[in-house]
Amino acid sequence: MISSNSITSGNGASIERREGTEVSSLNILRTLLEANRESVIVVDEGRRIVAANRAADSALTRQDMPMHGRRLSEVIRDLSLHEAFSRALDDKVSSDVKMDFIGSGKRSFDIHVSPIDLDGSTHAVGVFYDVTQVERLEKIRQEFLSNISHELRTPLTSIMAFVETLEDGAIDDRDNNRRFLGVIRRNAERMHELIADILELSMIESGNVSIQTKQVRLKGLVDEVFTALSSKAADREITLINRISPAAKAQADPVRLEQMLTNLIDNAIKFNRPGGSVTLTAVESDEKASISVTDTGEGILPDHLPRVFERFYRADRGRTREIGGTGLGLAIVKHLARLHGGEVSVNSTPSHGTVFTIELPA
Ligand code: ADP
Repeated sequence: MISSNSITSGNGASIERREGTEVSSLNILRTLLEANRESVIVVDEGRRIVAANRAADSALTRQDMPMHGRRLSEVIRDLSLHEAFSRALDDKVSSDVKMDFIGSGKRSFDIHVSPIDLDGSTHAVGVFYDVTQVERLEKIRQEFLSNISHELRTPLTSIMAFVETLEDGAIDDRDNNRRFLGVIRRNAERMHELIADILELSMIESGNVSIQTKQVRLKGLVDEVFTALSSKAADREITLINRISPAAKAQADPVRLEQMLTNLIDNAIKFNRPGGSVTLTAVESDEKASISVTDTGEGILPDHLPRVFERFYRADRGRTREIGGTGLGLAIVKHLARLHGGEVSVNSTPSHGTVFTIELPA
């Protein structure tokens, strides 16, 4: 009682229909395709698309235009994809290809194309696995690792060179031995700071940091940060000004807010000009509290501005390394602000100064 209408795929699985029903194997296939989250298209021997699910229509056409009935070459112009379909249709061989598709944005696909027998004739089915996000994350991971290696190698190279110099006799050079040890210590501290920041950032990013918010009086908190950074500010002749009213409050985790402000104020001191100032202000509304750190420094050029919150991004690599810093401070501030349900933003006028603002929901 089994009819001749059947779908047979490469692995031998088959879906069959009983005599007397109206269902063709192509219809069954179309129904199955709709249940699939990946984009799937079926092409006949004339290279015409006889079935495509909605995922395929939206991922592989420019204006969500249905692909059904169109020629494969009208829809996708990738040569290796056409070759894969030809292998499936002409040689009955399955193959895997990669393809980048530029639609509303660039998307990358791993595609498996295999022959399939539908109602007695050969067709080819292509399953498109969207790997855009996986590839993006992999790229970020690789960049992160290469940045870490680079950042650690610089101080380590210096430590090794100075240790060698000491071993080669400089240890008895009374004029220089302490200076060389000082260089080694500073570079070891730099590595220590970098590793601490990397661990901190990865803890926050992995969601392992929880915040406990309460009403925090902002003026007092800022005074504490100022005290901690006062000698650094004095070394650079920077005046620290707290313009926050004694009544101003924010709903925040006090430890984390202090960490955010320390990073921003530390930068405002580091990237200031000698004799400049750092001013803290706060504005409260029913919805949010905004705390701004304004400096009179060199500012950030518009090209760099959107990128300063990226991990390891430095507007001026050479100079920043001289000043010190890991390139992770602002990334940590961004993540901590988001953990509070808030945001951090930046505005800058080159050669006049920069304003960083943390906004926290009330
Ligand atoms: P770093 O450890 O280098 O300070 P951050 O993530 O804190 O790393 O900052 C990233 C980069 O943004 C800095 O290297 C610097 O180029 C720029 N930057 C940050 N804050 C300021 C500021 N207040 N004025 C000018 N440039 C700044």
